[in-house]
Formats: sequence, structure tokens, C-alpha cells
Amino acid sequence: MNTDLLLTGISQLATALSPGPKHGTAMGEVLVIPKAALALRAGRIAWCGPQSEWRGVAESTVDLGDRAVVPGLIDPHTHAVWAGDRLSDFEARASGESYESILLAGGGIRSTVRATAAASVEELVALARPRIAALTASGATTIEVKSGYGFTPTAELTSLEAIAILAENTPARIVSTLLIHIPPEDASLRANYIAGVCDELIPKVATRRLATAVDVFVEKEAWRPAEAEQVFRAAKQHGLAIKLHSEQFHAIGGLELGVRMKALSIDHLEACGPQQVEAIASSGTIATILPGVSLHLGIPAAAGRELIDAGAAVAVGTDLNPGSSPLYSVANALALAVRLNGLTPKEALAAGTVNAACALGLGGYGCIHAEAPADFLVLHGNDWRELVYTLGANPVAETWIAGERIAP
Ligand SMILES: [Zn+2]
Repeated sequence: MNTDLLLTGISQLATALSPGPKHGTAMGEVLVIPKAALALRAGRIAWCGPQSEWRGVAESTVDLGDRAVVPGLIDPHTHAVWAGDRLSDFEARASGESYESILLAGGGIRSTVRATAAASVEELVALARPRIAALTASGATTIEVKSGYGFTPTAELTSLEAIAILAENTPARIVSTLLIHIPPEDASLRANYIAGVCDELIPKVATRRLATAVDVFVEKEAWRPAEAEQVFRAAKQHGLAIKLHSEQFHAIGGLELGVRMKALSIDHLEACGPQQVEAIASSGTIATILPGVSLHLGIPAAAGRELIDAGAAVAVGTDLNPGSSPLYSVANALALAVRLNGLTPKEALAAGTVNAACALGLGGYGCIHAEAPADFLVLHGNDWRELVYTLGANPVAETWIAGERIAP
């Protein structure tokens, strides 16, 4: 075999056994090859295995110096495009003020919406670029980015345009989602808003290919399942996949709707009861959990252990956003999932790679095997478990995307 580049000196190569979703106990089945080598050709993996078994010819060889290699991580849930900040909210909350009083004082999510809607596309790109760079340096080779802080159709389109520019100008693979986030404050305007989303916004987004999925926040203080269903029907009519923010604080039927309508993923799940756990576990929908929110807001963590034990395919995301999860590291999100959601290190690796890929409809990604895109990480250490063990410091030494070393 001829290859462009052979990477040797890999202390351990750890990966899921195959691409595609891993449910339940299959999440813990991780292949660890000691003393491995990895051959790259034209941006893809040409061969991987024990270094002693390599028989090909390489144009060049790089010795990684006894360090571990894992697949590139996939962050399946971020709100990386926003303007303004929530630092005063953070300080007020830490000083004991309630969320309601913060909202009344002009803070909370509506302050982010005001700032984002007032920003130009260039400003949004400039603000988001370092966030994407931080996620990439932390190991994310594919990153989902949602709109959702624009609120008006025009401002939502501006956020999606910013995501499209980021996708063109950053090395990470960017997956864009239209998020229908918060309803109008005046309840009498809700039906009109949904009609505008279904009849105007979604067709525009689909025609201009500005997103591949539509996400709806289903919650007592946000959208009801019946409203979300209308949005999802319009999304499907226009060839877009569907996702949900659901069961974050209350179980009001969002999860059942998502499972019934074959959502790619249902995200949050902190308020799942046994019925919801069973419903998603016996479906093809990915259960995406977001431990950064549990840490930052001090709310109960999603029952990751119970979901996996019931047979669900669990993914983990940062939920990077200013209000509830200022978490700029996808590796740290996995590290938190081990501490807060009860995942084992192997399950966390599956959650951050193959399962996260499926949450974005990218079933071929997240696994190191011959013919896969050459997206992988070189760690600082020689044991792959440092990826999910390390807190604070970055365990990722190098991020490679499509066969190119792009960070640091
Ligand atoms: Zn979110």
C-alpha cells in the first residue's frame, strides 16, 4: 500500500469499533490498539493497526513520540453565535437573586436576544470565531452551531448567515441548525409567529441551504408540543431533519413527540422520568446530554447511566451558550459526563464521537477505520483515558481534520 503520511509512535489508538450509533452496552465497546500506526491518504485514513503489521510504503513518516490517538470529537449542540454577555446575570445569581428577578431587571435570555438581533453578520462572525477555535483546540473536529438568539426571522437569517461564513472560514466541519427558541412575550402572537416560521422562514432556510435541521425548545416557558409539531411538519416538508431541546425542566410531551416524529436527537433530558427513559431508549433517536448546564446552573444532571442501562444511544455536547453553559471545551464536556452523568470513560468516548455524529445525521464520522475521514486527535499523554480524566488543562495536543493538522 502507498500512502501520503504514516504516523508511528502511537502508544494507544482508541476508537469505537465501527461508525454508526451505539446503544446501551455497545457504548462501552472501545477498541484499544497498543503501539499503533495510522496511514493517511488524500484526507482519509488508508490503514490503521499495530505498527508491527504495517507493510506499505509511505511518502513521509512522523513519529508521534509515544502519545495516544483518538477520533476527532464531535460537539453536537452549541449556540456559539451570540452577542452581548451574561456576566451580570452570573454575578447576580451567585449572589442569590432569582432568575425571575434577573429577567425583570432586563437580564436573562431576552438580553442576549436584544444584543444578537442588534449585531451585524460581521460582528457575529468576529464574536463566534474564537469560540469555534477554542472548541477545535479542545478536540472538536465537527461542531453543530444553532441560531436561536435572533428571534425575528430577519435576525435568525443573519445568525444562520454568520454560521455559513464560519463554516467557510474555519477548519472545523460546521453543521448549522435553525433553532426556534423562545416565544413572543405576548401570548396572542404565538400562532402568528409559528405560521411565519412554517410558511416563510423554513422555506427560505431550506432554499438557501442555511441549515440541515430545525430544533425547537419544548418547555413550559417556551413552546408546547403541538406548536413544535407544526414546525417539524414544515421542516420535514422542506427536507430538513428535526431536533429538540426537551425535558430540561419539565416532561410535557416533547420527548414523546420527538420519538414519534423520528428526531435525530432529543437534547437535555434532565427531567426524564422512567417512561421517557424507556421511550427514547427503544427508539432510533440519539439522547444528547449536556453536563455543562448542570454544572453552571446547579440543576440535576441528566440520568446518563439510566439511559445507557435502558439501551439508549447517548451523546454529549457542550451546549456552549452565554446563559447556561459557558463551556468552551468538548473534552471537558466528556470529562463532566463521567463525573455528573455516570458514564464510564469508554461510554464517554462513544458519546463524544460515533453517537454525537449520529445526532447530526453524520453516520460515517467519529470512528478511526480504513476509508473514514482522517479526523483524529493526538493527546499529550500516552493513555487515551486522559481525554476524559483531565480537568482544566487541555488533554489534546493536536487536532487533525481531513488529514491536516489544524490546531494548535
Ligand atoms: Zn441548547
